[in-house]
Amino acid sequence: MRYIVVDLEATCWTAPRNSDMMEIIEIGAVCLIGSAGPAVGEFAEFVRPAESPILSEFCIELTTITQNMTDVADPFTLVFPRFVDWIGKEPFRLVSWGGYDLTQFKKDCVRHKIPLPASFENHINLKQEFSRVKKLKPMGMKAALEILGIPLSGTHHRGIDDARNTSMIAQIILPLLKP
Ligand code: AMP
Ligand code: MG
Repeated sequence: MRYIVVDLEATCWTAPRNSDMMEIIEIGAVCLIGSAGPAVGEFAEFVRPAESPILSEFCIELTTITQNMTDVADPFTLVFPRFVDWIGKEPFRLVSWGGYDLTQFKKDCVRHKIPLPASFENHINLKQEFSRVKKLKPMGMKAALEILGIPLSGTHHRGIDDARNTSMIAQIILPLLKP
């Protein structure tokens, strides 16, 4: 079985806003060829948000994604089909840290009237599985890396770096799960 470990970045603001306003600005993903790896490919693309194209200072600071990076990026309507193409036709399970990424895909697909492939629903919430296997309360991905003694690589809150780090945890936890 292949595992697509994905991490999304999205528009955000300091003041609490309706999460329905959030739009994907980066899709980062790593493809694992089996539950213990190895990683055989990566997808990393920025996305130009449609409804709130101006990034907040807070969002730029959190993600290190600049206004120019999203200004020159394609919209979700072009990037998402490329992501689906990159995944390909072979069976896979989508993996992410928590439930957020799948929810955000659903919201952006509804916003842009693009169907979400049914295969995306075959999702593994690695945050939940990690806490179940380790018998610990659910925690952030950074804390989980520390527990496993894996150094955080790259920049936290960048989609591709978060996806790479999550894939390191996945390769330890996925082999322990029932098929
Ligand atoms: P992450 O994968 O943890 O980088 O988070 C994904 C997205 O969730 C970010 O791109 C932000 O849109 C949002 N987010 C994460 N952390 C925060 C935070 N502390 N405050 C507001 N939004 C956040
Ligand atoms: Mg992230």
